[in-house]
Amino acid sequence: MHSSYSDGRSVPGDYIAPAIAAGLSEIGFSEHLTLFKDPEDWNMNPVNISPYISHLETLRKNTKSIKIKIGLEVDFFAGKEEEIRAYLNPLPLDYIIGSVHYLGEKTVDNGPEFYEGKSINKLFEAYFDSVVTAVASGLFDIIGHCDLIRIYGYKPTSDLEPLYRKLAKTMKTHNVVFEVNTNGRNRPLADFYPDRRFLHIFREENVPVCVNSDAHMPSRVGQYFDEAYELLRYIGFTEMAVFDKRVRQMVPF
Ligand SMILES: [Zn+2]
Repeated sequence: MHSSYSDGRSVPGDYIAPAIAAGLSEIGFSEHLTLFKDPEDWNMNPVNISPYISHLETLRKNTKSIKIKIGLEVDFFAGKEEEIRAYLNPLPLDYIIGSVHYLGEKTVDNGPEFYEGKSINKLFEAYFDSVVTAVASGLFDIIGHCDLIRIYGYKPTSDLEPLYRKLAKTMKTHNVVFEVNTNGRNRPLADFYPDRRFLHIFREENVPVCVNSDAHMPSRVGQYFDEAYELLRYIGFTEMAVFDKRVRQMVPF
């Protein structure tokens, strides 16, 4: 979930009732944290990290009907691994999602203009390269929307299978989980991340999966989960990852 601590619409407490109504047994918050850049309207100002965590700890104490997990979605920057590690290490988090939003100085999901006049093949290569480096950094439990570069529907002409294959192998080696992110359906792409045509590669390489709605408003908590589980079952997945104090457990779905 993203709450009003970053770019979500509501305070964390507003997400609880919809999660229970959706039949979920736990709910995780993972605000955007972007170190080394000036805070923008979509990410949490790092001065709010302690208030954010204590807000969720209080909510957890006062909520009996559903488990609350405290996480972050952290931007990955190659070359900044040790600073990111030093920042995250002392935090009492249940899970950390690593995401690549930036290619160079710009984010890939802030408008289709980013793609104009550029080689789409090269952008896909650069994006996957950065995600692979993020995976290998050992900083993260989960990689968020691992092919976000699809967001505006630009299609490369190159064969993408090797990019997904290398990513999946690296995830397996470094024990990192990929997510089926159902929020892609609400974006211009209008489908889940990652590309369903390549989901079988993650299965073949035995990469653990988790299912996330990446909800930025309470009405989208657990959105399209039935469809995501059905898709994953069709590919051959039977269990998914959950996290507690950064320890992974697999549960059947
Ligand atoms: Zn994201």
